[in-house]
Amino acid sequence: MNIPFVSFEAMHSEIEDKMLAAFKKVYEKNWFIQGCEVEEFEQEFADYCGAKYCVGCGNGLDALFLILKAYGIGEEDEVIVPSNTYIATALAVSYTGAKPVFVEPKIEYFNINPALIEAAITDKTKAIMAVHLYGQPAEMYEIKAIAQRYNLKVIEDSAQSHGATYKGIKTGNLGDAAGFSFYPGKNLGALGDGGAIVTNDKELADKCRALGNYGSDYKYHHIYKGNNSRLDEIQAAFLRIKLRELDRWNKRRNEIANRYINEINNDAVALPVTAADMTHVYHIFGIRCDRRDNLEKYLNDKGIGTNKHYPIPMHLQGAYADLNIEKGTYPIAETISSTELSIPMYYGMTADEVSYVIDVINAWN
Ligand SMILES: *Cc1c(COP(=O)(O)O)cnc(C)c1O
Repeated sequence: MNIPFVSFEAMHSEIEDKMLAAFKKVYEKNWFIQGCEVEEFEQEFADYCGAKYCVGCGNGLDALFLILKAYGIGEEDEVIVPSNTYIATALAVSYTGAKPVFVEPKIEYFNINPALIEAAITDKTKAIMAVHLYGQPAEMYEIKAIAQRYNLKVIEDSAQSHGATYKGIKTGNLGDAAGFSFYPGKNLGALGDGGAIVTNDKELADKCRALGNYGSDYKYHHIYKGNNSRLDEIQAAFLRIKLRELDRWNKRRNEIANRYINEINNDAVALPVTAADMTHVYHIFGIRCDRRDNLEKYLNDKGIGTNKHYPIPMHLQGAYADLNIEKGTYPIAETISSTELSIPMYYGMTADEVSYVIDVINAWN
């Protein structure tokens, strides 16, 4: 059996007619930037998250960067980020001129450990950027309690967590502001790049909107040295259709995850754990294994696609050589990098395919 790591086929074949009609509508209207599709999507996505405002932008990295810029974070400032995340989280901080300060995760959740945050706070710290990694919310109430004591902003990197909840509240509505990515492979993905800022803070939303549009509050009137980072009409039109299916697609991901969790019983494999009061949307199903590379080769030989999230932690990347952080400084992030293996997880996996992945993993020794 051949099972790719990810496939959009089932998802996209179900909605093909609607997507083509959406394309035709925008095409015939000849209005491609800052029109009613973006406006409608922003309202619908804000409503979906339970928040007041949504501002579309070019991608997830820009969403995070624009939030930091809008809060006035820059040179001489520090922002706390998890040591285990995709590099975009830290890059958003670096682009402002501020310094990312890494804090280790809890290995069983893969997310930042709130108990370690306080020790990383300095006079320069301005914000905590929590990541809902792999689709599970970070421990936001614990993080917010610390942030309140030190008067820090809490920013959610929600690039992997569309629809996930903590105590019934959706990610995107658990901090001061959230950045979402609509990269095609995310749980809610455009047919190209896209992103959004979600917040209940009107001033922040307005500022992010201006910063993403050449710093302009109205046409040819520029109040900031802004960027060009906008969500296209065509992508917004596609996203509106996909948003209506998101909960159903996430539900299927959860069914697959539950089968993996209940039926994978190989002692050499550690399964992901969901914290109390949280719902997970399994953007990634990450298992851990000491002989990860052997397991990966074995699965690939059996026709099962895999991936690693992420094989080199940020503090050991060439891009962050300037931080001069030695190997061994963030041992949990390093352990995750060398043991995590992501197995197939996507809407459209059949029961037989899920069974095959489970059987093949259970047969490994
Ligand atoms: C995908 C991703 C981003 C960046 O999103 P882009 O749309 O690719 O810029 C940021 N953070 C995390 C955790 C991501 O997975």
